[in-house]
Amino acid sequence: MNGNWLEYAGTIRLLCALTVLMVLIALELWWPRRGVASPPQRRLRNAGLAILSTALVRLLVPVTVVAFAAQVAAQGDGMLATIDLPTPINWVATIIGFDLAIYWQHRLMHRIPVLWRIHRVHHSDAWFDATLGLRFHPLEILISTIYKLGVIALLGPAPQAVAAYEILLVTFSLLTHADIAIPERWDSWARLVVVTPDWHRVHHSVREEETNSNYGNFLTLWDRVFLSRIEQPTAGHQRMVLGLPQFRSPRDQTIGALLLNPFTPQTRFSSSEDS
Ligand SMILES: [Zn+2]
Repeated sequence: MNGNWLEYAGTIRLLCALTVLMVLIALELWWPRRGVASPPQRRLRNAGLAILSTALVRLLVPVTVVAFAAQVAAQGDGMLATIDLPTPINWVATIIGFDLAIYWQHRLMHRIPVLWRIHRVHHSDAWFDATLGLRFHPLEILISTIYKLGVIALLGPAPQAVAAYEILLVTFSLLTHADIAIPERWDSWARLVVVTPDWHRVHHSVREEETNSNYGNFLTLWDRVFLSRIEQPTAGHQRMVLGLPQFRSPRDQTIGALLLNPFTPQTRFSSSEDS
C-alpha cells in the first residue's frame, strides 16, 4: 500500500458505502425484521442529508481524515507512532482506539444539551432502516470530522488503518440501522462482539432510558464496560415505538425542518441525562 492508494481512500469508502446500502435495501425487501412502510420521500430526505453533510465537510475542512493521518504519520507524531508496534497490532489498536472514541462522541452527543439538539435530528426518524444510517445533521458530521482529526493527532495511527476504520464506520452505521431479520441465535452470538440491528434498535426507542443506551458503533464492548447496555427493548422489537415524541408531525420531517431542527425552541429533551 502506498500514498497513491490513500488518494483514493474517499472514493473507495463511497463505493463501499453505496454497495453495502444497495445490498441492505435488497435484504430489507426480502427479509424484513419489522417491515413497516415509511413515507415515500423519507429515504430520499435521509440520503439528501448525507449529500449536504459531505458537501459541508468538503467546503469547511481542508483535509480528509486519511490525508491528515498520513501527515501525522510522516511527522512521527502521536502515541502509536512512538511505540514501534508490528503492523497488525497497530491496526487493531487503531480500530479499537477509534471505536472507543466514537462511543464517547456519541454518548456526549446525548449528554450535552447543545450537541443533543444536533444529534436529535438522527433520532427524530420514526422509522428504522439502512437509510437512517445516513441521516445526520451536517453539523454533526462536521463536528465528528474535527473530533476524528483530534483523535488522529493524539493516536498517530497508520493511515491505512484509519482508512479501514472509516469504511468500518460507514458500513456499521448502515448495517446496524438495517431492518433485516437476522436469526435470533446468530444475533445472540454476534452481539457478544459487534453491534447488531436488534442491539442498536433499542437506542432508537421512544423510551428515554432506552434512547440513552447502546451507544456503540462497532463493538458492544464499550456499552458493557461503561454500563450503558440494554439487551432488549421493553415493548419487544415488533411493538416498540421509535423516534422522538416531540417531532412526529410530517412538518417536522421536511428537509428544511430537519436542517433547522437544532435551532428550534427546545420543548423537552428526550434524554433523561439532559433533564
Ligand atoms: Zn444517539
